[in-house]
Amino acid sequence: MLVRNMRRLLAPAIAIAVLSAPAIGSAAAPIVWVQAGHASPGEPGYSAQTGAGGGPFGSEIAFNVKVRDDMMTRLKAAGVDARPLVSKVMPMGASGATFISIHFDSPGGGAGVGRAVVGGGENYYHGEGTGDASQTPYGDSGSHRAPATKVTAAVAANSANLATRISSALKGIHTPANGASARFNGVEPPNGNVRMVHFYGYYRTKADARVLVEVGAAGSDDPFLRKVPLIGSTLSATIVKDLKARKLLSR
Ligand SMILES: [Zn+2]
Repeated sequence: MLVRNMRRLLAPAIAIAVLSAPAIGSAAAPIVWVQAGHASPGEPGYSAQTGAGGGPFGSEIAFNVKVRDDMMTRLKAAGVDARPLVSKVMPMGASGATFISIHFDSPGGGAGVGRAVVGGGENYYHGEGTGDASQTPYGDSGSHRAPATKVTAAVAANSANLATRISSALKGIHTPANGASARFNGVEPPNGNVRMVHFYGYYRTKADARVLVEVGAAGSDDPFLRKVPLIGSTLSATIVKDLKARKLLSR
């Protein structure tokens, strides 16, 4: 019969169509925001914080941008939807799997990793970011963009896990053999340096893990900070490892 013949003819075609269709429910590539700390344009309320001077490329911004761009290439090659950020977090409140802000410390400082913590909020400064950090606004604090995003217990837990992974990986390369001689501070405790645990960037994104890396200190770590591919590959590989552990990336 014609109908039966048609079915026999169509069956293989349907089977091929089903096999070649994209897997239903396959996860989209995880979004990772990589911020070059202090790069222009600045975040309102913090735009006077233009970063440290010195380092192997003349300024902290120059270093941060080089590492961010190196990471962009590597993360994309690993199947991540990597997106670059400057100091002003755009779009405000962006979602994603991970937010990482790249920095180096001033001379006399060290390497370390900050992460978003539960409780408190972003820091306030005088004007556009001068003076001591305060959890409550000064009378002359520049206005901040709102609404700030929240750091939930789940975000803090993801952030702590990623910070621990990054600290361990960074410690492995922040060595005298690689030209590093500043101290290594590890993961900042919740009550530690407020510039690292209450960084404004954590309150401008909805990413599920939020961290800040001080890769080293200008001056004493300059030979190490010059090794951008080593730093970029180490940070990228650690982020990928973390995404896989969170089952957000399979390949
Ligand atoms: Zn910085």
